[in-house]
Amino acid sequence: MAIPSPFPVSPPLIFERKDFQKLLEVLNAQGYHVIGPTVRDGAVIYDEVLSDHEFPVGWTDSQSAGAYRLEKSDNKALFAYTASPQSWKRFLHPPALTLWEAHRSNGTFQITAEDTSPRYAFVGVRACELQAIAIQDKVFLYSEFLDPHYKARRENTFIVAVNCGRAGGTCFCASMNTGPKASSGFDLALTEILEDERHYFVVEIGSEAGAEIMRELPHRPAGEGEIEAAERILAQTAASMGRELKTDDLKELLYRSYESPRWDDVARRCLTCGNCTLVCPTCFCTTVEDVTDLTGEQAQRVRKWDSCFTMDFSYIHGGSVRYSTKSRYRQWLTHKLATWIDQFGTSGCVGCGRCITWCPVGIDITEEVQAVRAGGGKTSKKGVKHENV
Ligand code: SF4
Ligand code: SF4
Repeated sequence: MAIPSPFPVSPPLIFERKDFQKLLEVLNAQGYHVIGPTVRDGAVIYDEVLSDHEFPVGWTDSQSAGAYRLEKSDNKALFAYTASPQSWKRFLHPPALTLWEAHRSNGTFQITAEDTSPRYAFVGVRACELQAIAIQDKVFLYSEFLDPHYKARRENTFIVAVNCGRAGGTCFCASMNTGPKASSGFDLALTEILEDERHYFVVEIGSEAGAEIMRELPHRPAGEGEIEAAERILAQTAASMGRELKTDDLKELLYRSYESPRWDDVARRCLTCGNCTLVCPTCFCTTVEDVTDLTGEQAQRVRKWDSCFTMDFSYIHGGSVRYSTKSRYRQWLTHKLATWIDQFGTSGCVGCGRCITWCPVGIDITEEVQAVRAGGGKTSKKGVKHENV
């Protein structure tokens, strides 16, 4: 497990591309379900992978507000894509989780509450995604209430991070200080390098578990030129971010801006579909549903992802607390970038850009903040309180 990461990061090592399959095999032999990137339904998604042939070699992605396209490329890299529509939260905090099941037997109900959590090895976790996992750790492991389902999955997870060799069109991790280089929270971190005829990885070890895996793989110490090549790639990635979010004074700005006219403007475009919350690697809200079969013999309680954009999410007796689109978008953005800091000591946004790419009408969190900032922040007529409509 890579939480936290007190392990001294080792001097960089070199691991050749031709040995990558061995990494998957060693992880498999240690009992991990290896989850990595693969192409399905026109997108790079994360799923169980047994072979490096399943990786998205020869594919890259093009992303902009409201648009995602996979494109063929001559690039032989395993990790030439940027943020996938999915995030690792799908595995650590599943979209639907059965909390318990009840079966009628001899006039009584037998209740079972088994949660078998697999031992995952995630291969290809980006720096922003490591930060998103660290944020969900704060929510599920280190806040007032511990989530046993998350804990069981997280404790058994091995993380192979991959530093980004290019920035996506909607990425802004550099301005959020969350990437493009993985700095902690990994067992192994790779930088993929293709130069001339060579294809190799510069590897950093972040935990004893990572060191154990590397002992089973062919490797050698990295030379100065190879370390410099990795640094060059990361500097180029940081310099070519698709977006930027100015974070100075952001919390205070948003607290002053409950009455900004921009919330009315964005409400005219927002469909309240909730896509932005579902693709976001840090959003964690859930609802609980009880279901029975038609015979009344079986019942289940299922926890499912929910979204603060739905009317039912804030429903209490008499109605929804946030019944307008304006109040829901304002709540989401202000929670992500301001109240989250008071709640968990960190921003709720890691700059992955997914909410921009996957918003069907192309609403861009960086553009919305810029517009609110341009308005300078407006103080509510009621002082610190604001009307929740
Ligand atoms: S901001 Fe975009 S993705 Fe989010 S709820 Fe509105 S329309 Fe949907
Ligand atoms: S708010 Fe948007 S950019 Fe920020 S972490 Fe969530 S999906 Fe990524």
